[in-house]
Amino acid sequence: MPEPGKDFNPKQIVLDKISAQGGWVNAHAHVDRAFILTPENFQLTGESLETKWSLPDKYKEQASVDDIYDNMARVVEDMIAQGVQAIGSFIDVDPVIKDKAIVAAKRLRENYKGKIKIKFINQVVKGVIDPEARKWFEVGAEFVDIIGGLPERDAGHEAEHLDILFEAAKKNGNKPLHVHIDQFNSPDQRDTELLVKKTIEHGYQNKVAAVHCISLGAQPKAYRQELYKKMKEAGIAVIVCPCGWIDNSWVASKDEDVIGPIHNTIAPVKEMIAAGLVIALGTDNIQDIYKPFNDGDMWTELRFLLETSHLYDVDVLTDIATGNGLKALWL
Ligand SMILES: [Zn+2]
Repeated sequence: MPEPGKDFNPKQIVLDKISAQGGWVNAHAHVDRAFILTPENFQLTGESLETKWSLPDKYKEQASVDDIYDNMARVVEDMIAQGVQAIGSFIDVDPVIKDKAIVAAKRLRENYKGKIKIKFINQVVKGVIDPEARKWFEVGAEFVDIIGGLPERDAGHEAEHLDILFEAAKKNGNKPLHVHIDQFNSPDQRDTELLVKKTIEHGYQNKVAAVHCISLGAQPKAYRQELYKKMKEAGIAVIVCPCGWIDNSWVASKDEDVIGPIHNTIAPVKEMIAAGLVIALGTDNIQDIYKPFNDGDMWTELRFLLETSHLYDVDVLTDIATGNGLKALWL
């Protein structure tokens, strides 16, 4: 209880609890592509997600390892300044950037040893089925701590995409998986269900985190509840990045109405917690063509999560911001 005459300030209570738990955990970022916004590409922020997947190519081709390292270090410095104890970041490893982000990541890990825990995950923005993309995926899979996926990039072949991820994970010492999934806020998308099925098929229980799960909120309640049970059985953690996706109802319904259950554009966090799932928090893209105004502020992310989910339990919020992130990064 507050002392007489002092404000009862729930934000400060959460911040103090987070600090007492060793600090924030940013479970999902793309540190290699932060701060690549320019006046030119700022004009393209209204393009579709699929178009944006290729827009950083010009930067990735031209950037030196030093350029990429500088972006990464700027994010990490900012995270440390905020009291972040651990970060999980995707890095692009593909035919365009080749291994430049890997070289920069090695330097980053070395230079920040003891200051912040870093886990790297390979982004597969060119998919894993195209032969050249597959070659670089295999290179990335060897380097990273966690195998990364993006089944939407191989649309129509999502199951094959997931099989390739699981096989690479097993081949490289049973590494865990982070998979961008159900991003389109569409009732036609049921990729989390597919991820659960594949996790069980490959015997990969308790080694998979699903990143975003936005489309789940567009499904009927009975479907959602059934899926949470299966996710719990498969030990799948969920990482949400609230600021990155809160605009997605507008993006998804730009050309025509999309009909589905009313929901805020975030995974159904409260329902998932009630079902016993582990929910962690991330910043996703920082100051780039996807999210030009995202400054990577952890409190802003937690604030969006608690507001969109009407989740005011300070202990649950603390877990999401700290221990659950450690779990989702296997730290
Ligand atoms: Zn991401």
